[in-house]
Amino acid sequence: MKLFLNSKRCIACGLCVQQHPELFELDDQGIAHFKKNLENSSLELDSQEIKKLKPVINNCPGRAFKIERS
Ligand code: SF4
Repeated sequence: MKLFLNSKRCIACGLCVQQHPELFELDDQGIAHFKKNLENSSLELDSQEIKKLKPVINNCPGRAFKIERS
């Protein structure tokens, strides 16, 4: 499964970074990006990892996350 993060929708609340600092980081403007590679807007994850991220995905106030099932 792929998790997409549309940083243009991010309202800089910091939730995803607080909950999963291993995956996300904020840029100078406080906007969230995937940590591993700032050029990427998606990350390949298994279903267990997606499950762990569900609270953040569902509670992101900017609705910046999208899951694509493969
Ligand atoms: S939870 Fe959503 S709005 Fe908040 S920092 Fe992360 S991507 Fe941005």
